[in-house]
Amino acid sequence: MTAQAAESRELAAVIGLEVHVQLETETKIFCGCSTEPTEEPNTHTCPVCLGLPGALPVVNEGAVEAAVKVGKAIDADVPEETTFHRKNYYYPDLPKNFQITQYDAPICRDGELEFAVESQRRAVSIRRAHLEEDPGSIKHVREGTGPLESRTCSIDRADYTLIDYNRAGTPLMEIVTEPDFRDPGEVRAFLEKLEEVLEYLGVFDATRDGSLRIDANLSMVDADEVGEDGHIEESVLEDANRTEVKNISSHKGAEQALAFEASRQRKLIQSGRAVEQETRHFNETHGNTVSMRSKEEEKDYRYFREADIPPLEVADWKETIDIPELPDARRERFVAEYDLSEEAAAKLTSTKQVADFFESVAERFDADLAATWVADNLLGELNYRDMEITDVDDRFDEVTRLVELVAEDEITAKNARETVLREMLDEGEDPDTVVEREGLGKTSGDAVQRAVEEAIEENPDAVEDYHSGEDGALNFLVGQVMQKTGGSADPGDVNGLLREELAE
Ligand code: ADP
Ligand code: MG
Ligand code: ZN
Repeated sequence: MTAQAAESRELAAVIGLEVHVQLETETKIFCGCSTEPTEEPNTHTCPVCLGLPGALPVVNEGAVEAAVKVGKAIDADVPEETTFHRKNYYYPDLPKNFQITQYDAPICRDGELEFAVESQRRAVSIRRAHLEEDPGSIKHVREGTGPLESRTCSIDRADYTLIDYNRAGTPLMEIVTEPDFRDPGEVRAFLEKLEEVLEYLGVFDATRDGSLRIDANLSMVDADEVGEDGHIEESVLEDANRTEVKNISSHKGAEQALAFEASRQRKLIQSGRAVEQETRHFNETHGNTVSMRSKEEEKDYRYFREADIPPLEVADWKETIDIPELPDARRERFVAEYDLSEEAAAKLTSTKQVADFFESVAERFDADLAATWVADNLLGELNYRDMEITDVDDRFDEVTRLVELVAEDEITAKNARETVLREMLDEGEDPDTVVEREGLGKTSGDAVQRAVEEAIEENPDAVEDYHSGEDGALNFLVGQVMQKTGGSADPGDVNGLLREELAE
């Protein structure tokens, strides 16, 4: 092709992901060591996860259960029987010199995940999702006197390297998509949805360091190879030279790395050069990708069956394991059952904890009031303080008491929101204490009556104006009463009382 022809080629990006997620289990996948994060290196280890000779792995049922839940959530096939394989390679973070993973009989196949991009529904096929163990973690360090964390660096600048096997054997699920993504923005939306679903299932903790790691594959094809429905022929996908970007640990990172990679490949092709099939490293600081090594092939790993783990019969696990209602279904139900707007329903189903909290509040009060209090007031104030709903889970009774004070008209909504709720969050006080201390209880009965009488007595001019039909005189008197009651009387009630008094 001439350089000119190359330049004018219209190109389209093709993206497929391999997402590693850490499954939340108490113990590791093949031994009883704790998965609890700890500062102290090499304390959560045993002969199995250190790969000592003669130690035998035993599969953690909890990890398999979590994987089956994921399978159900993405509507995947779970086979009768699933098996484990050894993936052989040498690296110091891998004490056995092989990783136990799955190969030709993964626990999940042929799933799908739906998500929304700019309010358009999209679905991406999930080719497979399998269980495997995490290796240990490595830290490259420079000599020096400062704290260790300040001396970690890249391998080429390091004086020595530390290895921590606490992470070795943590259960991972690798979720492999079909190359169905057509742009980096879609990838970000997909990852957000995936995390949301995993958190709903209770098998994943997004706040845990390194709990999500992404390898992103990207190639460029001629734009006219992409069908109207986005379909691309298998042979075209196979022929396209692709790169795999490793070391991505955030949604934003994935979008950035892929945008960089798409433009890098586009430039190469348009200047008549070829894209090398290779593994690249994402540099988060610079937002670029750099060549790491030529892409390894499957045969490099000499996969063979893990003879120490018998095949696992999972035929009826899918039937017996329950999963909670997932975010999409719950959002739709909220709209139908509570008559909420799409926007409010989306906010209230953003995490399972928020949705549960809302439903508990809605059990006791009108759904509209519950939605306003949870979606707008509570989430708003929490968000402002960088707090989560889980931070007030154990204060559910206090929050409902506050809503009750409003529902029963004992305090104004404004005071509840702007004073009581804020004091509750900032000072850790209960609502009644704040109401008492700040004198926010709505002034009613005698006290208002007295204030009305005083206002009339003290303002004869306004009373005269009122009787001579002057607009504004009544409002002035209402204002006087409100002032006397510190704003805690109900303006409507005051208005009525004044009319009554003045009519006499
Ligand atoms: P490998 O055996 O080289 O790891 P796989 O066929 O297992 O390749 O695919 C690995 C990942 O690469 C999958 O996420 C898949 O969606 C993605 N992929 C496959 N073909 C392409 C392509 N042409 N462009 C981008 N990604 C692709
Ligand atoms: Mg692969
Ligand atoms: Zn162990």
